[in-house]
Amino acid sequence: MSSTPSDTANLPDKLLSLIRAEVRSQHPYIVPGARPVPVKLNQNESPFDLPAELKKELLDSFVNLEFNRYPSEQPQGLMTALESKLKVPPGSVLVGNGSNELTYTLGMCFIHPGDAVVIPRPMFALYESMINLHGGQPVGIAPRSDLQFDVEAILAAIAEHAPPLVIVTTPNNPTGLAMDFEDVVRIVEAAPGFVVVDEAYHEFNPGESAVDLIATHPNVIVLRTLSKAFGLAGLRLGYMVAQPALITEILKSRLPFMIDRLSEQVALSLLNNGHIVDERVQIMQKSTKELTRELELRPKLDVLRSQTNFVLFKANRDPATFLSDLADRGTLVRNMGGYPELKGYLRVTSGTSEENKAFLEALDSVLLT
Ligand code: PMP
Repeated sequence: MSSTPSDTANLPDKLLSLIRAEVRSQHPYIVPGARPVPVKLNQNESPFDLPAELKKELLDSFVNLEFNRYPSEQPQGLMTALESKLKVPPGSVLVGNGSNELTYTLGMCFIHPGDAVVIPRPMFALYESMINLHGGQPVGIAPRSDLQFDVEAILAAIAEHAPPLVIVTTPNNPTGLAMDFEDVVRIVEAAPGFVVVDEAYHEFNPGESAVDLIATHPNVIVLRTLSKAFGLAGLRLGYMVAQPALITEILKSRLPFMIDRLSEQVALSLLNNGHIVDERVQIMQKSTKELTRELELRPKLDVLRSQTNFVLFKANRDPATFLSDLADRGTLVRNMGGYPELKGYLRVTSGTSEENKAFLEALDSVLLT
């Protein structure tokens, strides 16, 4: 799963020095503390796989797919289906191999070496490493004491650095907190360059979306994913929405054939059965509320009210040991202590009611120790 130090120790210096410094200074992306346990609540996944009948239908239809033929350069069918779902003009959507993969496209298109990129903190870690990889200078903005993004400080940094790119996430991972939509608008209107609004968890906090700003604001780019509410994390599908003229430019940086035929077909089938996603989102929203309420009942914990499918909480104990004690009792959560602002915090994804129950039992057992 990870590269070990000995991998690079064996590489001659002459070759090592040929690898870009921006790459060498990074770390491979590894989900820390992962180990097989019965209750997996560490990656904000949906607890629901595709319904068995739908899976069976798809598997039957795969028999007719030609595995020996390339898919189309871009998944036109899926792009069109997403455009009609979002009610945006044709050419507004670009699909990637997970929205993670699209972040590299942002770097490729918008970051020149030395460019400042404004990112409020704490923010999904991949953005900072993507900025560094492309030679940009992340300008991290510390959060307010309630862990909400500090919008005034973001606006001040925009005025100071005139960045080509600002990135915000709403609702945010790892806090679960959503921004006020007026604040998103203020940032979009103040920024001299592009503003990426990552809405990976939008379906759990529906309502106003930066997608609605796109028609009037050519600098807005929205990122979404099918990994969370749609439950397709294993297939790797995410998408970008922007004005068609911007998508046309961005497409020039894209590798062809990033989306395979099978994934496209599964996504289309799920979009055609939208009620499945809607029902599951409702269950996940309820599950998150219940989990939050349960955590709040435990006086030893500090809990954030989340607008997503996960909850961030803190206990007055060492989070690594806490996590490991929970894993020993069969439940895996995530240690968020790698974010300087989140020392001591753990993040738990809301699962099925049985999974939540198992987690709470494990939690209570650990809190007694
Ligand atoms: N953005 C945010 C805020 C996320 O939390 C995640 C996944 N953890 C992603 C993007 C990436 O999603 P995907 O699976 O589509 O790469």
